Amino acid sequence: MPTHRKHSSDLSIPAQGMEGIELCEKIRLNENMAIPSKTAEYEHLDELTNPTSVFYGPLPSRRFGLSAGINLLGQDKICSFDCPYCELGRTEVRMKHIKKEIPFKSPEEIQSAFRDGLRNHLTDGIQSVVVSGNGEPTLYPHLYEAMELLVVAKNELLSSARLIVLTNGAHLDSRRTLSALEMADEISVKVDAGNEEVFKSVNSPLVRSNLTKIIAGTRKLKKFSVQAFFVQGTVDNTTNAAVEEWIEVIGMMAPQKVYIYGLKRVPPITGLKAADEDTLYTIASKLKRRTSLESLVFT
Ligand code: SF4
Repeated sequence: MPTHRKHSSDLSIPAQGMEGIELCEKIRLNENMAIPSKTAEYEHLDELTNPTSVFYGPLPSRRFGLSAGINLLGQDKICSFDCPYCELGRTEVRMKHIKKEIPFKSPEEIQSAFRDGLRNHLTDGIQSVVVSGNGEPTLYPHLYEAMELLVVAKNELLSSARLIVLTNGAHLDSRRTLSALEMADEISVKVDAGNEEVFKSVNSPLVRSNLTKIIAGTRKLKKFSVQAFFVQGTVDNTTNAAVEEWIEVIGMMAPQKVYIYGLKRVPPITGLKAADEDTLYTIASKLKRRTSLESLVFT
Protein backbone atom coordinates (compact mmCIF):
# COMPACT_ATOMS: atom_id res chain seq x y z
CA MET A 1 0.00 0.00 0.00
CA PRO A 2 1.83 2.79 -0.41
CA THR A 3 3.13 0.71 2.24
CA HIS A 4 0.98 1.19 5.26
CA ARG A 5 1.61 3.12 8.58
CA LYS A 6 0.83 4.06 12.34
CA HIS A 7 -2.98 4.90 13.25
CA SER A 8 -8.28 6.53 16.71
CA SER A 9 -12.78 6.40 19.46
CA ASP A 10 -13.93 4.29 22.14
CA LEU A 11 -11.32 2.19 23.82
CA SER A 12 -12.42 -1.22 22.73
CA ILE A 13 -12.43 -3.37 19.67
CA PRO A 14 -15.81 -5.03 19.60
CA ALA A 15 -16.21 -8.63 18.52
CA GLN A 16 -16.95 -7.64 14.94
CA GLY A 17 -13.58 -5.90 14.53
CA MET A 18 -11.56 -8.82 15.81
CA GLU A 19 -13.44 -11.60 14.07
CA GLY A 20 -11.06 -14.10 12.64
CA ILE A 21 -8.04 -12.70 14.36
CA GLU A 22 -6.20 -15.32 16.25
CA LEU A 23 -3.41 -13.81 18.19
CA CYS A 24 0.03 -15.16 17.95
CA GLU A 25 3.44 -14.07 19.00
CA LYS A 26 5.31 -11.66 16.83
CA ILE A 27 7.64 -13.29 14.39
CA ARG A 28 11.07 -11.93 15.09
CA LEU A 29 12.86 -10.46 12.13
CA ASN A 30 16.50 -11.16 11.51
CA GLU A 31 18.69 -9.66 14.22
CA ASN A 32 20.65 -7.58 11.74
CA MET A 33 17.51 -5.66 10.78
CA ALA A 34 18.29 -2.72 13.02
CA ILE A 35 15.95 0.27 12.79
CA PRO A 36 17.74 3.33 11.47
CA SER A 37 16.49 6.74 12.44
CA LYS A 38 14.07 8.19 9.91
CA THR A 39 15.57 10.45 7.33
CA ALA A 40 14.07 13.60 5.90
CA GLU A 41 13.42 11.68 2.72
CA TYR A 42 11.64 8.98 4.65
CA GLU A 43 9.47 11.48 6.49
CA HIS A 44 8.19 13.37 3.51
CA LEU A 45 7.72 12.04 0.04
CA ASP A 46 4.83 11.83 -2.33
CA GLU A 47 2.48 9.37 -0.69
CA LEU A 48 0.08 9.42 2.24
CA THR A 49 2.39 8.75 5.12
CA ASN A 50 2.77 9.41 8.85
CA PRO A 51 -0.62 11.00 9.45
CA THR A 52 -1.18 12.48 12.88
CA SER A 53 -4.83 13.42 12.32
CA VAL A 54 -7.95 11.75 10.87
CA PHE A 55 -7.86 13.88 7.73
CA TYR A 56 -4.50 14.49 6.11
CA GLY A 57 -3.30 15.87 2.82
CA PRO A 58 -4.34 16.32 0.14
CA LEU A 59 -1.15 14.93 -1.33
CA PRO A 60 -0.29 13.73 -4.81
CA SER A 61 -0.54 9.94 -4.86
CA ARG A 62 1.26 8.05 -7.56
CA ARG A 63 -1.80 5.88 -8.12
CA PHE A 64 -4.83 7.91 -7.16
CA GLY A 65 -4.12 11.48 -8.21
CA LEU A 66 -4.54 14.22 -5.65
CA SER A 67 -5.64 12.29 -2.57
CA ALA A 68 -7.08 13.16 0.78
CA GLY A 69 -6.10 10.59 3.38
CA ILE A 70 -8.25 9.17 6.16
CA ASN A 71 -6.50 7.74 9.18
CA LEU A 72 -8.88 5.73 11.38
CA LEU A 73 -6.21 4.53 13.76
CA GLY A 74 -4.73 7.48 15.65
CA GLN A 75 -1.12 8.47 16.27
CA ASP A 76 0.61 5.09 16.48
CA LYS A 77 1.01 2.47 13.83
CA ILE A 78 -1.43 -0.39 14.29
CA CYS A 79 -1.10 -3.33 11.99
CA SER A 80 -1.45 -7.08 11.93
CA PHE A 81 1.71 -7.31 9.81
CA ASP A 82 5.23 -6.08 10.42
CA CYS A 83 6.47 -5.86 6.83
CA PRO A 84 10.23 -5.20 6.94
CA TYR A 85 9.91 -2.52 4.26
CA CYS A 86 6.99 -0.66 5.89
CA GLU A 87 7.32 3.08 5.47
CA LEU A 88 5.61 3.52 8.86
CA GLY A 89 8.45 1.77 10.61
CA ARG A 90 8.15 -1.34 12.74
CA THR A 91 4.87 -2.45 14.29
CA GLU A 92 5.27 -1.76 18.00
CA VAL A 93 1.68 -2.06 19.23
CA ARG A 94 0.96 -5.70 19.97
CA MET A 95 -2.32 -7.11 18.72
CA LYS A 96 -3.36 -8.20 22.19
CA HIS A 97 -3.02 -4.64 23.43
CA ILE A 98 -5.20 -2.99 20.79
CA LYS A 99 -8.51 -3.77 22.44
CA LYS A 100 -7.70 -2.26 25.82
CA GLU A 101 -5.18 0.43 25.12
CA ILE A 102 -6.02 2.28 21.94
CA PRO A 103 -8.31 5.34 22.29
CA PHE A 104 -10.04 5.00 18.93
CA LYS A 105 -12.17 7.88 17.75
CA SER A 106 -15.87 7.23 17.17
CA PRO A 107 -17.26 6.94 13.63
CA GLU A 108 -19.05 10.26 14.22
CA GLU A 109 -15.78 11.94 15.17
CA ILE A 110 -14.16 10.45 12.08
CA GLN A 111 -16.97 11.79 9.90
CA SER A 112 -16.78 15.23 11.47
CA ALA A 113 -13.01 15.47 10.94
CA PHE A 114 -13.45 14.26 7.36
CA ARG A 115 -16.14 16.89 6.64
CA ASP A 116 -14.00 19.66 8.11
CA GLY A 117 -10.96 18.55 6.13
CA LEU A 118 -12.85 18.30 2.87
CA ARG A 119 -14.51 21.68 3.36
CA ASN A 120 -11.08 23.25 3.79
CA HIS A 121 -9.86 21.75 0.53
CA LEU A 122 -12.95 21.80 -1.70
CA THR A 123 -11.28 23.87 -4.40
CA ASP A 124 -8.01 21.91 -4.46
CA GLY A 125 -9.10 19.35 -7.05
CA ILE A 126 -9.11 16.27 -4.81
CA GLN A 127 -9.58 13.17 -6.95
CA SER A 128 -9.67 10.47 -4.33
CA VAL A 129 -10.10 9.76 -0.64
CA VAL A 130 -7.81 6.99 0.54
CA VAL A 131 -8.55 5.12 3.77
CA SER A 132 -5.18 3.89 4.88
CA GLY A 133 -3.38 5.99 7.47
CA ASN A 134 -1.30 4.61 10.30
CA GLY A 135 -1.52 0.93 9.49
CA GLU A 136 -4.25 -1.58 8.69
CA PRO A 137 -7.63 0.21 8.50
CA THR A 138 -9.69 -2.95 8.95
CA LEU A 139 -8.38 -3.12 12.53
CA TYR A 140 -10.46 -0.02 13.32
CA PRO A 141 -13.24 -1.46 15.48
CA HIS A 142 -16.16 0.36 13.86
CA LEU A 143 -15.12 0.13 10.25
CA TYR A 144 -18.62 -0.56 8.91
CA GLU A 145 -20.16 2.45 10.64
CA ALA A 146 -17.25 4.70 9.73
CA MET A 147 -17.42 3.70 6.07
CA GLU A 148 -21.16 4.45 5.99
CA LEU A 149 -20.55 7.93 7.40
CA LEU A 150 -17.57 8.59 5.16
CA VAL A 151 -19.60 7.70 2.08
CA VAL A 152 -22.40 10.05 3.17
CA ALA A 153 -20.01 12.95 3.77
CA LYS A 154 -18.05 12.36 0.58
CA ASN A 155 -21.22 12.22 -1.52
CA GLU A 156 -22.50 15.44 0.04
CA LEU A 157 -19.31 17.41 -0.41
CA LEU A 158 -17.26 15.86 -3.19
CA SER A 159 -19.18 13.13 -4.97
CA SER A 160 -16.69 12.97 -7.85
CA ALA A 161 -13.87 11.71 -5.61
CA ARG A 162 -13.27 7.97 -5.50
CA LEU A 163 -13.21 6.25 -2.11
CA ILE A 164 -10.36 3.78 -1.84
CA VAL A 165 -9.35 1.44 0.98
CA LEU A 166 -5.88 -0.08 1.24
CA THR A 167 -5.76 -3.33 3.18
CA ASN A 168 -3.30 -6.09 3.94
CA GLY A 169 -6.10 -8.62 3.41
CA ALA A 170 -5.57 -10.41 6.72
CA HIS A 171 -9.08 -9.78 8.05
CA LEU A 172 -11.24 -10.65 5.07
CA ASP A 173 -12.69 -13.58 6.99
CA SER A 174 -14.97 -11.14 8.80
CA ARG A 175 -18.29 -10.65 6.99
CA ARG A 176 -18.72 -7.27 8.63
CA THR A 177 -15.30 -6.17 7.34
CA LEU A 178 -16.16 -7.40 3.85
CA SER A 179 -19.44 -5.45 3.89
CA ALA A 180 -17.61 -2.34 5.04
CA LEU A 181 -14.99 -2.67 2.32
CA GLU A 182 -17.65 -3.14 -0.36
CA MET A 183 -18.75 0.47 0.24
CA ALA A 184 -15.48 1.64 -1.32
CA ASP A 185 -14.99 2.33 -5.01
CA GLU A 186 -11.73 0.39 -4.90
CA ILE A 187 -10.34 -2.12 -2.44
CA SER A 188 -6.63 -2.55 -2.85
CA VAL A 189 -5.26 -5.75 -1.28
CA LYS A 190 -1.59 -6.29 -0.56
CA VAL A 191 -0.18 -9.46 -2.12
CA ASP A 192 3.62 -9.51 -2.09
CA ALA A 193 4.18 -13.26 -2.13
CA GLY A 194 3.18 -16.40 -3.98
CA ASN A 195 3.94 -18.91 -1.27
CA GLU A 196 3.65 -19.07 2.50
CA GLU A 197 7.37 -18.93 3.17
CA VAL A 198 7.89 -15.74 1.19
CA PHE A 199 4.69 -14.32 2.72
CA LYS A 200 6.12 -14.79 6.22
CA SER A 201 9.41 -13.15 5.33
CA VAL A 202 8.05 -10.18 3.42
CA ASN A 203 4.92 -9.46 5.50
CA SER A 204 5.86 -10.89 8.89
CA PRO A 205 2.26 -11.47 10.05
CA LEU A 206 1.50 -10.89 13.73
CA VAL A 207 -1.76 -12.83 13.52
CA ARG A 208 -2.46 -16.29 12.14
CA SER A 209 -2.83 -14.97 8.66
CA ASN A 210 -1.58 -16.77 5.61
CA LEU A 211 -1.70 -16.41 1.88
CA THR A 212 -4.36 -19.07 1.47
CA LYS A 213 -6.72 -17.17 3.80
CA ILE A 214 -6.08 -13.90 2.00
CA ILE A 215 -6.79 -15.47 -1.38
CA ALA A 216 -9.97 -17.02 0.02
CA GLY A 217 -10.99 -13.62 1.40
CA THR A 218 -10.60 -11.86 -1.91
CA ARG A 219 -12.91 -14.44 -3.50
CA LYS A 220 -15.73 -12.94 -1.43
CA LEU A 221 -15.11 -9.45 -2.77
CA LYS A 222 -17.00 -8.33 -5.86
CA LYS A 223 -13.91 -6.58 -7.15
CA PHE A 224 -10.51 -5.62 -5.89
CA SER A 225 -7.07 -4.56 -7.01
CA VAL A 226 -3.75 -5.98 -5.90
CA GLN A 227 -0.74 -3.99 -4.83
CA ALA A 228 2.61 -5.71 -4.51
CA PHE A 229 5.90 -4.46 -3.17
CA PHE A 230 9.12 -6.03 -4.32
CA VAL A 231 12.27 -5.83 -2.24
CA GLN A 232 15.73 -7.27 -2.32
CA GLY A 233 18.44 -7.82 0.23
CA THR A 234 17.84 -9.39 3.62
CA VAL A 235 14.34 -10.19 2.41
CA ASP A 236 13.91 -10.90 -1.29
CA ASN A 237 10.67 -11.62 -3.14
CA THR A 238 12.20 -11.08 -6.59
CA THR A 239 13.90 -14.45 -7.10
CA ASN A 240 12.75 -16.37 -10.17
CA ALA A 241 10.91 -18.90 -8.06
CA ALA A 242 9.22 -16.24 -5.90
CA VAL A 243 8.09 -14.24 -8.91
CA GLU A 244 6.83 -17.30 -10.78
CA GLU A 245 4.72 -18.33 -7.79
CA TRP A 246 3.49 -14.77 -7.25
CA ILE A 247 2.35 -14.63 -10.88
CA GLU A 248 0.55 -17.93 -10.49
CA VAL A 249 -1.31 -16.63 -7.43
CA ILE A 250 -2.19 -13.30 -9.04
CA GLY A 251 -3.42 -15.09 -12.16
CA MET A 252 -5.65 -17.26 -9.99
CA MET A 253 -6.96 -14.28 -7.99
CA ALA A 254 -7.76 -12.31 -11.19
CA PRO A 255 -7.86 -8.80 -9.71
CA GLN A 256 -9.22 -5.86 -11.71
CA LYS A 257 -5.91 -4.02 -11.44
CA VAL A 258 -2.37 -4.83 -10.40
CA TYR A 259 0.05 -2.26 -9.00
CA ILE A 260 3.71 -3.18 -8.79
CA TYR A 261 5.92 -1.15 -6.47
CA GLY A 262 9.54 -0.75 -5.63
CA LEU A 263 10.38 1.20 -2.52
CA LYS A 264 10.42 4.94 -2.85
CA ARG A 265 11.52 5.57 0.71
CA VAL A 266 14.37 4.47 2.85
CA PRO A 267 13.16 1.21 4.42
CA PRO A 268 12.93 1.15 8.21
CA ILE A 269 15.44 -1.67 8.50
CA THR A 270 18.95 -2.03 7.21
CA GLY A 271 19.93 -4.71 4.71
CA LEU A 272 16.88 -4.13 2.54
CA LYS A 273 16.67 -2.27 -0.74
CA ALA A 274 14.12 -1.51 -3.38
CA ALA A 275 13.87 -3.86 -6.32
CA ASP A 276 15.39 -2.01 -9.25
CA GLU A 277 13.37 -0.66 -12.14
CA ASP A 278 14.39 -3.42 -14.58
CA THR A 279 13.30 -6.09 -12.14
CA LEU A 280 9.89 -4.46 -11.64
CA TYR A 281 9.24 -4.12 -15.37
CA THR A 282 10.40 -7.68 -15.97
CA ILE A 283 7.89 -8.88 -13.36
CA ALA A 284 5.15 -6.81 -15.05
CA SER A 285 5.92 -8.22 -18.45
CA LYS A 286 6.05 -11.81 -17.17
CA LEU A 287 2.69 -11.24 -15.47
CA LYS A 288 1.23 -10.00 -18.74
CA ARG A 289 2.68 -12.88 -20.74
CA ARG A 290 1.51 -15.57 -18.35
CA THR A 291 -1.88 -14.19 -17.29
CA SER A 292 -2.78 -11.37 -19.71
CA LEU A 293 -3.10 -9.09 -16.69
CA GLU A 294 -1.85 -5.56 -17.22
CA SER A 295 -0.12 -3.86 -14.35
CA LEU A 296 1.11 -0.42 -13.43
CA VAL A 297 4.68 -0.16 -12.25
CA PHE A 298 5.82 2.45 -9.71
CA THR A 299 9.55 2.69 -9.23
S1 SF4 B 1 0.63 -4.21 5.97
FE1 SF4 B 1 2.85 -3.99 6.04
S2 SF4 B 1 3.26 -2.18 4.83
FE2 SF4 B 1 1.08 -2.10 5.36
S3 SF4 B 1 1.02 -0.90 7.32
FE3 SF4 B 1 1.15 -3.07 7.84
S4 SF4 B 1 3.33 -3.42 8.15
FE4 SF4 B 1 3.14 -1.53 6.98
